[in-house]
Amino acid sequence: MPDTRKVIIIGTGPAGYTAALYSARANLKPLVFAGPEPGGQLTLTTLVENYPGFSEGIMGPELMNQMQMQVEKFGTEIIHDAVTRVNFKTHPFEIFVGEQKYVSETVIISTGASAKLIGIESERQLLGHGVSTCATCDGAFFRNQEVIVVGGGDTAMEDATFITKFASKVNIVHRRDTLRASKIMQERAFKNQKISFIWNSTIDKIHDVDKNTVTGVTLRHLKTDQRTDMNCQGVFVAIGHQPNTEIFKGQIDVDEVGYIKLRHRAFTNIDGVFAAGDVVDHYYRQAVTAAGMGCMAAIDVERYLEAEHG
Ligand code: NAP
Repeated sequence: MPDTRKVIIIGTGPAGYTAALYSARANLKPLVFAGPEPGGQLTLTTLVENYPGFSEGIMGPELMNQMQMQVEKFGTEIIHDAVTRVNFKTHPFEIFVGEQKYVSETVIISTGASAKLIGIESERQLLGHGVSTCATCDGAFFRNQEVIVVGGGDTAMEDATFITKFASKVNIVHRRDTLRASKIMQERAFKNQKISFIWNSTIDKIHDVDKNTVTGVTLRHLKTDQRTDMNCQGVFVAIGHQPNTEIFKGQIDVDEVGYIKLRHRAFTNIDGVFAAGDVVDHYYRQAVTAAGMGCMAAIDVERYLEAEHG
């Protein structure tokens, strides 16, 4: 039987690392599972200018590296594996990596959400080099440039409208000829002089992988199959997010999309299981808000354990 840990943290984005930092400094000796995408979404970006404390900005992967070193300094143990299964129906809770079992009195879930991608190779290759999934983070890099936003939902409308503060022109590429976005967001986008719509279309290819920067796209009309090249310097993919809750299915309350529902503060419906960051939050989705929630979850764990054991 493995030792029972006080807290196991699943996921290593800003929420997971901040939860680890606080619980390590509270002497809870956290065990953290890095997961399939160690460091989370920030490792897919380049310069981060909206994380406080870095007046010149910091590269996303470097920020996550710093967070990792900071938590290790205080005695956090990190296992560079992905959790494959959990059992929250027993206490202490069981967490599995394959056949290997770990047990813990409390668990903090900070597995984040993954931005959905169109799924073409050039998109993955140019992510962080002109292709972005976060307008709030990267919009300001496209001052006086032309960009494309992909999607027809509220996020696409909001992102496009936001990016017009910087860009000279924003083309919204949508796969249908009607939008999913709410009326008010649609109207805001329709009224914006800098925004145009390209309907019934998708991106077949983003150029130029060889130059490691975005210079344009090849669009494909989905009804006529006609291909058109278009110049642009940025592509924002805004087609939704998927919370990483697959392994918790049937174990914990989630909403219709799969985001974990909190009972209050960082408490889930299961006593002793807490959640923080993008896995519960589809609204703010910022590194700094995720970090804040990680801190909250760790403090909740500490007080929960105190109340349990006096
Ligand atoms: P969403 O509502 O699911 O919309 C996703 C959009 O991307 C849809 O238009 C969809 O096209 C398109 N899409 C999906 N997969 C695609 C693919 N593989 N290729 C091309 N296009 C694809 O997602 P969201 O816009 O991120 O919004 C998520 C939730 O947050 C919604 O409930 C939204 O109302 C809310 N939200 C609210 C605000 C606000 O109120 N300020 C801001 C942002 C988000 P189809 O339409 O053809 O399916």
